[in-house]
Amino acid sequence: MAFESLSERLQNAIKMFRGTKEITEEDLKEPLRQVRMALLEADVNFKVAKNFVAKIKERALGAEIQQNLSPSQQIIKIVDEELTALLGGTQAKLTVADKPPTIIMLVGLQGTGKTTTVGKLAYNLKKKKKSPLLVAADVYRPAAITQLQVLGEQVGVPVFSLGNEISPVEIARQSLDKAAHLACDTIIIDTAGRLHIDEKLMEELQDIKATVNPHEILLTVDAMTGQDAVTVADTFNKDLGLTGLVVTKLDGDARGGAVLSVREVTGCPVKFVGMGEKLDALEPFYPDRMASRILGMGDILSLIDKIKDTTDLAKVLEAEKKIKKDEFTLEQFLEQMQQIKKLGSLDTILGMIPGMGGISQKLKEANVDEKEFARVEAIIRSMTPKERQKPEIINGSRRKRIAAGSGMKVQDVNRLLKNFDDSKKLMKKMQGMAKFASKGGKML
Ligand code: GDP
Repeated sequence: MAFESLSERLQNAIKMFRGTKEITEEDLKEPLRQVRMALLEADVNFKVAKNFVAKIKERALGAEIQQNLSPSQQIIKIVDEELTALLGGTQAKLTVADKPPTIIMLVGLQGTGKTTTVGKLAYNLKKKKKSPLLVAADVYRPAAITQLQVLGEQVGVPVFSLGNEISPVEIARQSLDKAAHLACDTIIIDTAGRLHIDEKLMEELQDIKATVNPHEILLTVDAMTGQDAVTVADTFNKDLGLTGLVVTKLDGDARGGAVLSVREVTGCPVKFVGMGEKLDALEPFYPDRMASRILGMGDILSLIDKIKDTTDLAKVLEAEKKIKKDEFTLEQFLEQMQQIKKLGSLDTILGMIPGMGGISQKLKEANVDEKEFARVEAIIRSMTPKERQKPEIINGSRRKRIAAGSGMKVQDVNRLLKNFDDSKKLMKKMQGMAKFASKGGKML
């Protein structure tokens, strides 16, 4: 998932900070240089990176030193808080009109995921018992109307289209009557995209805005395009007045710079992020959770939100408790794996679990892919319950038996046990950090 490299580099920079007493300027020099480089390499806007580091420095050297925190804990707390602030502070929710319908206009350059996002939003709203009407106001790209109709059918919501002969402004205007007629409480207008910003497009969007007076004008930007996305967002915001952004394709290997810079540069909040091509892959954007995810402290809250629909929450919470109490066994590891498999891409999910971000990296280093996952499962399944509870009893002859039982080599069993052991250590360490963060920085 995005941010992987940034995440690793930021965590390494923080680890460099070894001061035990007061924080001095000298202590901060190298770690902050590394933080700045990590941000720049993630394609964060130059000024944003500079301000970010300056703020951390100012706060770290400032008066807010707390007695109950060690200097390195303070640094983590400050970086976490500043990262959250950079990402927008608090969650910016979708506006809901006091008097329906709520009108949402989706704008964006071609290929950024605008039409897909219309479908995803409709899916989201429908799950919340809303009844959206999709409006096909992109009349220039013939396939756009069909694409929207297909999405509408998949989600099970009506699509309003007048073909491609009528002007988008007129289509938008008439959609209000249609929504009233169908008793739809939300209107989502899919507007035309272009490869580049051009005046004609902007005028058309301004006309639609003036005609329907939308509650939300959301711009989709593609995370993969980095700083270009930020520039585009800035222009759209100045010309059209955006209410929010949807950063798409964050499931890919985007370096993340767009998400980190776009709020500060444009002043416009990110309201959603696109995490995949499917309809359920749109997530509300929580700055604090994203910051924790980037800092490797996991994002258990988002994971729980996701899990609520798909899996057995009780089991996950139990595992979370066991991690905390250091009772995490191979049994839970297997259970977690089964839950994870139900949820989707390994990388995305692991990144959300406290401590697992690092494991994701470890798995990668060990060449562990989704297929390897099945092999790991086979090995654990060949163990007795006792062995799963207490892996330390797995001696040489047990290893041979497990390997034979699962059709693997003894080395595979050894590697799994070593990885599990490393993971446990890592989890414990990261748990400390997560606990520390969730208690507002007070170490328990
Ligand atoms: P539009 O031209 O802006 O309307 O873009 P589309 O909605 O047609 O999307 C362009 C491509 O991006 C399609 O192949 C989508 O499936 C894909 N896409 C959209 N959002 C995401 C996302 O969040 N993640 C990924 N991986 N692909 C996405």
